Amino acid sequence: VVKIGGQSFIDRGRAAVYPLIDEIVANLHTHKMIIGTGAGTRARHAYSVGIDLGMPTGVLSVLGTFVSMQNARMLHYLLAKHGIPFIEPVQFPQLPLYLEERGAVIFFGMPPYTFWQKNPDVGRIPPHRTDTGCYLISEVFGAKSMIYVKDEDGLYTADPKKDKHAKFIPKISLEELQAMDLQDVVVERAVLDLMKNAENRTTIQIVNGLVPGNLTKALNGEEVGTTIYRA
Ligand code: ADP
Ligand code: MG
Repeated sequence: VVKIGGQSFIDRGRAAVYPLIDEIVANLHTHKMIIGTGAGTRARHAYSVGIDLGMPTGVLSVLGTFVSMQNARMLHYLLAKHGIPFIEPVQFPQLPLYLEERGAVIFFGMPPYTFWQKNPDVGRIPPHRTDTGCYLISEVFGAKSMIYVKDEDGLYTADPKKDKHAKFIPKISLEELQAMDLQDVVVERAVLDLMKNAENRTTIQIVNGLVPGNLTKALNGEEVGTTIYRA
């Protein structure tokens, strides 16, 4: 499963997306890819307006779902000439056929909880968003890997956009990471929580998709970016 970041990647537009599309196409018949999309800045905007208007988490979750669907559809149009379908949750039973025939599918990363999204501990923003939705697909289908394509080399001791002294962490166990109690992390915290009880998906990888070749290395099982594993 490959998750393409919303805020961190797709929102950067053509400069980021076109080279990644080429890399996906180059890997099409070597690796089967279930490609999920983030939502990003447009969803954050909808959350902010929705919160201001008094809307609950379940409604915000509906709004975010449609934004991740916009991103999935945009990638789908770019990949359409390669016969890559966009699938919604009701079409997941056809996923094995599409993977066998075309080598990849695109879905929207948001878990389809809509109104049934749980409230977060603090605030109202849905706690299970697109990192989590993609993670759960990787877990439930026992996929070979879970690769997050974002705009930083991986996990740091702090957000590298805000702290220039942040140190890169190439590999870390879930237990060590949780003990560090970092202020902010590179994936949704819900992913780390779900990893505790996972059956299959006990490692995740975060790569910088702005660097050509990183996705290919990750698909090939190389340790590029950051690997977070359950000890
Ligand atoms: P996406 O659009 O893929 O959901 P986000 O923007 O939500 O991505 O999250 C990725 C961003 O998280 C990175 O671009 C980075 O700026 C930020 N970030 C926050 N904390 C960290 C950290 N400890 N290490 C690396 N990046 C971090
Ligand atoms: Mg995010």
